[in-house]
Amino acid sequence: MKPDAETKPVVVIGGGWAGIAAAVELARHDIPVILLESAKQLGGRARSVNIEELHVDNGQHMLLGAYESTLDLLRKIDVNESDVLQRKPLSLQWYRPEKKSVSLNTPRLPAPFHLAWALLTLKGLALRDRLSALRFARRLEKIKFVIDNDCSVADFLAKHQQSPALIHALWEPLCIGALNTHLHEASAQIFLRTLGDSFNHARSDSDLLLTRTNLGSVLPKPAADYIERHKGSVRLGQRVSTLCIENGTITGVTLDNASIATTEVILATPHTTTQRLLSPHTVLQETCEQITQLQDRPICTVYLQFDKTVRLGRWLRGSLGTVSQWIFDRGLYGQHGLMAVVISGDGEHLQWDNQKLCAQVAAEIATQYPQWPAPQSQQVIREKRATFASTVNVNQYRPNAETAVQGLWLAGDYTNTHLPATLEGAVRSGRYSAQQIIAAHQRQRRQ
Ligand SMILES: Cc1cc2nc3c(=O)[nH]c(=O)nc-3n(C[C@H](O)[C@H](O)[C@H](O)COP(=O)(O)OP(=O)(O)OC[C@H]3O[C@@H](n4cnc5c(N)ncnc54)[C@H](O)[C@@H]3O)c2cc1C
Repeated sequence: MKPDAETKPVVVIGGGWAGIAAAVELARHDIPVILLESAKQLGGRARSVNIEELHVDNGQHMLLGAYESTLDLLRKIDVNESDVLQRKPLSLQWYRPEKKSVSLNTPRLPAPFHLAWALLTLKGLALRDRLSALRFARRLEKIKFVIDNDCSVADFLAKHQQSPALIHALWEPLCIGALNTHLHEASAQIFLRTLGDSFNHARSDSDLLLTRTNLGSVLPKPAADYIERHKGSVRLGQRVSTLCIENGTITGVTLDNASIATTEVILATPHTTTQRLLSPHTVLQETCEQITQLQDRPICTVYLQFDKTVRLGRWLRGSLGTVSQWIFDRGLYGQHGLMAVVISGDGEHLQWDNQKLCAQVAAEIATQYPQWPAPQSQQVIREKRATFASTVNVNQYRPNAETAVQGLWLAGDYTNTHLPATLEGAVRSGRYSAQQIIAAHQRQRRQ
């Protein structure tokens, strides 16, 4: 498609993974695009950070083999998956104080048999629990991992006779890990959707994908190069303060010191910013009210630097009944002795200062690995608004990409993708909005 000389550039607001995906999709179709990001770097909640000597991401991220749109986006911008991501077959192990650890390993069998085998051979759980997990999985396959009426994950598991031991050792950590929401309030619809995406199609969908170096090198950096090579513009440190809307149509955006005229905008900001930018416009009141219903949940990541010889023994280990939920050995990234401890969702740890939080996490590690020396240094990254809460019926409040204003589209993990807040949800939403604009341009050019 040839660019139309009269076409004003599409403005994408927000350079997180949703905005990046939208801008790449437009650039790929020769549609002029300006990507405006208020921060000094792209990536949003999935960005690389440098704190003193520590070069990490703002929280340990993991992708799944099921992240179809994200992996496709990487291919489209000529990023070779294996250059930026390391793929690991799903293999999880959880430490339990004073009990045998629990392990889940998927064998090299086609889906869904790999799940069946993994559940049947779950180490650390009684045979009756393993059989009950298997029956539950078969039931989910029958209903295609979809339920019409939402309820909490806890209620759904109880209805399907999952024992407290099984819930504690398997479903609870999977739920909080995937939805960043505790199971008594988490949406069963979203949880089942996540399980279905990971386990019901190809075996490789349940693979875990970790960055080789950092998140910035996976998408933000190569995508910015791609957008600029395709005559798009990436502008950092540009905060949009107002959306200009006249007679129900978008006419431009105002920045702190400038304005840009346009007839098409993709607003890919976090839901709180979106709500703020939409709220002055009466025509968008309904969308604003929907967005106001969304709540946020935090993720804390504690980075502990041990002596460089310290190894976890595996790259990831879960922990049950402790404040720490997952420990990642950053030796995998060449950062030997550095452990990233992830704590998702609400909890009493949110009331503690960093010193107390680090002391608690270090004490838990000392119990599990008494031979390790004390950590040499520590850092905490608290993301108070890491994700929206995937609570019961939340899908009803997640806005669609289309808005009541002509030319204005929404994108972001919180929009109605039916997925939890993930990189994949963000990418999917960004590409969807861009595709609507591309289709409209194609229709116009045919006329
Ligand atoms: C600690 C942590 C761990 C996570 N772990 C995982 C994981 O393992 N796997 C996974 O899939 N997901 C994970 N997530 C979720 C994932 O990071 C998010 O779902 C995803 O990054 C959201 O992308 P987004 O583009 O929708 O929003 P954001 O990343 O929030 O992007 C919005 C962008 O808009 C910019 N912006 C805001 N206001 C303005 C303005 N006025 N003008 C211009 N720009 C503006 C912001 O600076 C930001 O860059 C995690 C999140 C966190 C915080």
